[in-house]
Amino acid sequence: MIVEKEIHKIAKKYHVDLVGVADLSPATSHLAHQGGAIFKKYPRAVSLGFRLVNEVVESIADHGNRALVMNYIHHIYSVVNQRLDQAAIAVSKFIMEQGSLAFPVPASQVLSYETYTGLVPHKTAAHLAGLGWVGKNALLVTKGYGPRVRFATIYTDAPLASGTPENVRCGSCRVCVDACPAHAFTGNNFNEEKPRDYIYDAAACNGYMKERRLSLLGKNVFGGNCGLCIQVCPFGKPKRPGNRDKKAEG
Ligand code: SF4
Ligand code: SF4
Repeated sequence: MIVEKEIHKIAKKYHVDLVGVADLSPATSHLAHQGGAIFKKYPRAVSLGFRLVNEVVESIADHGNRALVMNYIHHIYSVVNQRLDQAAIAVSKFIMEQGSLAFPVPASQVLSYETYTGLVPHKTAAHLAGLGWVGKNALLVTKGYGPRVRFATIYTDAPLASGTPENVRCGSCRVCVDACPAHAFTGNNFNEEKPRDYIYDAAACNGYMKERRLSLLGKNVFGGNCGLCIQVCPFGKPKRPGNRDKKAEG
């Protein structure tokens, strides 16, 4: 528990909002299949979640406003992701100093612009760590902040105490399904036995964002440029007037 407490302390220095530890045993073969045999070495993962700033998320409802969309992209890719990556390196170094393996996977590392997949999905570790569930929007949805959270993950063999996975809480909600301009969601609830396209058509989403790059932003602007499935989700939406809220429980 001393090691876990120290990990929380380090993450807090970087203003990381959510910290959890995943027991990866249910996901090892899936992670190794996508990311390579190296993932068989790590029975645990530390999941770090950094909450996005609410007003920046709300601003993307003005969907055709180039300046606001560029501001949103900057917030995520140049500010939050870098902060998360710095936190992940600091936690990794601490785990190494304890004599364990640590393999940090950065917050945003798109390896294929065809499928928009990274080395391995952060949501797998975050879900198994008990930080949230995979919603109908194919994102990790946390209780307190909804999908307004970015994640980095540190894979490790350190014998850390793990959390308990959350059950899906989307219920009959279809807000993200109906809001998606690319009709990328099927409306099905996440099912870990089924492939990603059971809930989400990545090609439809990516095609829409590519079109927006060409028509609104400029072909050299990279990064997710839509985000309506994050902005509309009732989980994490500020409930008080003027979009004000307090620190919520993850
Ligand atoms: S980012 Fe936009 S287009 Fe892609 S899934 Fe979300 S709402 Fe749909
Ligand atoms: S908008 Fe509704 S259905 Fe979509 S992820 Fe959020 S809670 Fe689930």
